[in-house]
Amino acid sequence: MSYRGYEAVIGIEIHVQLNTQSKMFCSDSTQFNAGDNENTSPVSVGMPGTLPVVNKKAIEFAIKTGLALGCQIRKKSVFARKNYFYPDLPKGYQISQYDQPLCEHGTITFKVGDQQKTVSITRAHLEEDAGKSNHQGDFTMINYNRAGIPLLEIVTGPDMRTPQEAAEYGRTIRQIVRYLGVCDGNLEEGSMRCDCNVSVRKAGSEKLGTRTELKNINSFRFVEKAIEYEIERQIDMVERGEKVLQETRLWDPDKNKTFTMRSKEEAQDYRYFPDPDLLPLIVTEELIQRMKADLPELPIARKNRFVAEHGLPEYDAGVLTAESDLAQFYEETAKVSGNFKGASNWIMTELLRELNNNNLEINDSPITPKNLGLLIGMIDKGTISGKIAKAVFLDMWKDKKSPEEIIKEKGLVQISDPSTVEKIIDEVLTANAQQVEDHKTGKKKNLFGFFVGAVMKASKGQANPEVVNQILQKKLNG
Ligand code: ADP
Ligand code: MG
Repeated sequence: MSYRGYEAVIGIEIHVQLNTQSKMFCSDSTQFNAGDNENTSPVSVGMPGTLPVVNKKAIEFAIKTGLALGCQIRKKSVFARKNYFYPDLPKGYQISQYDQPLCEHGTITFKVGDQQKTVSITRAHLEEDAGKSNHQGDFTMINYNRAGIPLLEIVTGPDMRTPQEAAEYGRTIRQIVRYLGVCDGNLEEGSMRCDCNVSVRKAGSEKLGTRTELKNINSFRFVEKAIEYEIERQIDMVERGEKVLQETRLWDPDKNKTFTMRSKEEAQDYRYFPDPDLLPLIVTEELIQRMKADLPELPIARKNRFVAEHGLPEYDAGVLTAESDLAQFYEETAKVSGNFKGASNWIMTELLRELNNNNLEINDSPITPKNLGLLIGMIDKGTISGKIAKAVFLDMWKDKKSPEEIIKEKGLVQISDPSTVEKIIDEVLTANAQQVEDHKTGKKKNLFGFFVGAVMKASKGQANPEVVNQILQKKLNG
């Protein structure tokens, strides 16, 4: 992709907040809605003499994520101190990992439009979060609830070339961590934070240009817009003969612009060194194998299986595997109904529409997969027509009843018995003697549809359309 003869280079760092019950190095709760500074202890506010203890669950979540990203898991990794001063960082350093991260050398492949894109994962390392400053007039309040919450920082190589690839990469990571259940993926609440590094170079050049870092963008749509803006801004600078400064910039979604936050530190400014309070982290092969065995089927594999096993179009498979709970719902519905495409159609149109209109998640659906599967089965068996099924579906949504109950209560069973259908047809033909005459003499064309409609209406939509068609054909055209 060329922008006015330039190529964009993008690398992304995503901080994933691991949803453990307690913090990375102490037992403080991680609960999101706690009152200010309720989730703190001498460890998380950095009192002298306190010592960190590693959270086992966080290690397990990090290994799982690393495996899902095709990373090698280091048997020995090291926690390091990243030193800098900031009020929300009470110890004066952040415990992170530096030259020996837990996970490294992974790759991830995803689709951007119809193109496959593979991005290398340089590393994924564990670290602790900082607190949050709250500026109010002349004062700054600090809330340390977040200080010490475990983060997994996932870092890519400078492998992306367009804003669309960057946004799709972010969506893919979000989908994976949600499938794994290690993070809720909520960008607005900050459980996932995305920093995009962007530089430009003359098309064809191998040398990397100076990058800027766009920090903490809280939606993937904004990731795309911010990078788009940044590419143009940098090209303008280069064209004017100016130098791009290595700096951290923020995205202003109202103005559609990025602006300077601070000039960026280099690694040596942080004076990294191994944290003497923590032993190196030793991971056994047994633990790695246990985490591997515990991995769920990942989104891409599941999507491919839906195409191969259930014969679904790729588009359907993509929608249905977007969330693991939705994919689960689909599989149960398909199993009960025995109709893979039917289950997909009903979920993708009727169910997702109602969920969307009512702002509900799939797990809040008042219709269970079993009942939806039964409904689809009843259409396939001819018990009810597709049209009546739509009305039954809405009743199921309202009353949380099974389709049998609703059909019984409302007397909606489809009429397929030929003699009963014939009786209705005869009544309709008698009542429309003039039209029958016109049809027979060929005075009016295309009256057949009119009769079908009249019969369906007379039967309150319950006559089996196929049977209606057959008998009408015989009576009118036979
Ligand atoms: P730091 O930790 O100081 O932010 P890293 O070397 O870890 O720096 O790189 C951070 C991210 O920036 C990585 O995703 C990397 O791929 C990306 N990156 C590095 N150099 C460039 C560049 N010149 N252009 C675009 N992205 C870059
Ligand atoms: Mg960084």
